[in-house]
Parts: sequence; structure tokens; C-alpha cells
Amino acid sequence: MGIEDALPEEGILTTTVEAVAGWMRRTSFWPATFGLACCAIEMMTYGAPRFDAGRWGQEVFRASPRQADLMIISGRVSQKMAPVMRQVYDQMPNPKWVMAMGVCASAGGMFNNYAIVQGGDHIVPVDVYVPGCPPRPDMLIDGMFKLREIVLKDPMGAHRAKVLGDLEELALIA
Ligand code: SF4
Repeated sequence: MGIEDALPEEGILTTTVEAVAGWMRRTSFWPATFGLACCAIEMMTYGAPRFDAGRWGQEVFRASPRQADLMIISGRVSQKMAPVMRQVYDQMPNPKWVMAMGVCASAGGMFNNYAIVQGGDHIVPVDVYVPGCPPRPDMLIDGMFKLREIVLKDPMGAHRAKVLGDLEELALIA
């Protein structure tokens, strides 16, 4: 996909700064280091040489959420971990994005019990859901390409404010 797909028909001289930022941002995600369970092993493989997510600028995992713009929820979210996950999300600067990796992160998976949150989207707004148990690294790559399309359409993450507001209203975080 070239810059002509990202920018309005008027051309580069009359487009917005946001569109240019989105076009650049989509090829330089900095994910937060946030492995929660077995899916995290596949996430590590995704960044390693065999699958080499660095080919698309997606491999620079950051130890500090303040340097990250993407959270990959890689595994089941326990009730105890949920407030921590939300805190990490809140510490990430805007605009930021979230991917739910695997069925546990998307909907609780096989862990339908009192200890596990039934989907990361009860805690943070999720942009892309990657199916599988666990998803293979190439499925994560596919999810990242879907996220790139979202970033191109909404480079400043404007749609997220309402979703976050709904989450606060529901008061799902203890
Ligand atoms: Fe583990 Fe499967 Fe759940 Fe991923 S989806 S955290 S591999 S049980």
C-alpha cells in the first residue's frame, strides 16, 4: 500500500498532518512488553528471526509503556492482572492501539471461571482480535496488517474516546 492510498484525493500539499502521521505510524509500531500467558511464547517468536516482524517495523518491544503505542494482550487476563493491565494502558501515550491475541484475550477461552476476565475488552478498548489457541506468529502478523488499515483510517485514534468512556461507565475495574 502506497502513500496515495493513505492521503486524500486532493494530494499531499493539501492533506492533513494527521494523515501523514498515520501513514508513517503504521510502519513503526512500538509494542509494550506485556506477555500474560502461553500466547506470549508465540508473540516472542513473531519478533524473532524466523518470522522477523522487523521487516514491517513491528518488532521494537518497549519495556516502558510510556514508550509504547501498542498493547498486545497475549494470553488470559486474570482478575488480579486486570487493574495492572489497565494501568499499563493508561500510561501509554496517545494515540495507542490494542490487539487481543488468542481466544483467551478475546473472550476468556476455555477459562470460563471466577478468576479470569472474559475478554480483554472489558478492561481496555481492543482494535483487533486474533483468533487461535495459540495463534501462530503469522496470524499475529496478519493482525498487525489489519491494524495498519485501522491506523490509516483513524491515525489519531479518535474512535477510542467513546469506547473508553463506556468502559468507565460500566465500572468493570475494581
Ligand atoms: Fe494459552 Fe491458548 Fe489461552 Fe493463548 S489462547 S493464553 S495459548 S490457552
